[in-house]
Amino acid sequence: MGKLSAEQLSELKSLLEQRKAEIEGRIDEVRDGQSRVDHARDIIETRGSVERQHSSDREVDLALSDMGAVDLARVNAALERIENGTYGECDECGCDIPFARLQIEPQTQHCVACKSRWERETAAVPTARM
Ligand SMILES: [Zn+2]
Repeated sequence: MGKLSAEQLSELKSLLEQRKAEIEGRIDEVRDGQSRVDHARDIIETRGSVERQHSSDREVDLALSDMGAVDLARVNAALERIENGTYGECDECGCDIPFARLQIEPQTQHCVACKSRWERETAAVPTARM
């Protein structure tokens, strides 16, 4: 605890807030895209079937919003940890995550050692990311 200085913490906090704004912007774009797609679909569907187009659009949109939602949850969790003073500790082994690593990946909850172990263990699941 307390390994990060107040300045470092506030730098990381603003990185996280930036990231949060980016992700929220991206999710909004996906939602806008979705409603445009729905609108177009309504028009087309009154004239005939567009099943193939329909399913590929939906897959893309789902993938995008899932990605944004997961990132956002992680960023929000990191901001919460800043608030309650547990930010910067590895969730797995409890060590202090180096500032340099947090600057690159401020939402991370794991030190490099735990993360690479985790990645080896989940190598068979390419969609899982930390
Ligand atoms: Zn660790």
